[in-house]
Amino acid sequence: MLQPAAIDGLAFARHAAVLEGRLGMDSLPRLAQSGCSGSVLDFVLTGEINERGKQGLKLAVDGSVRLQCQRCLGNLDLPVHLAAQLELASSEAEIMAADDDIERVVAGREMSVAALVEDEVLLALPMVPKHEQCSAEAQLEANAKP
Ligand SMILES: [Zn+2]
Repeated sequence: MLQPAAIDGLAFARHAAVLEGRLGMDSLPRLAQSGCSGSVLDFVLTGEINERGKQGLKLAVDGSVRLQCQRCLGNLDLPVHLAAQLELASSEAEIMAADDDIERVVAGREMSVAALVEDEVLLALPMVPKHEQCSAEAQLEANAKP
């Protein structure tokens, strides 16, 4: 089944619509640019009227991304499990003017679902990806011992 690539944000929220799907690297160019060489991400996007009475979107993403470890330059598969709640704003200016911790996104008639997922995943990626137990480090420690 073909996924719709974009949603009408306000209508999606108003109808409490639900969209589930899976994205691969071909849909995630900005992840590729940030050094990600492989990724499969399952997402669930849900429209809602949030507790403040505003139209919003909930996004859950599960999967993994493949990055390069900055110590040993080997592959690093990083699990991704995140959930975000976004409130739909009418303009970039409204988002800039807001003085609270609510995450907002400008509502559009054709909001790219992949771009929404990418935005959240990019925020969650480590600045400098490294294996938690990196073989390069183990090697260094072994060499350091007399
Ligand atoms: Zn490593």
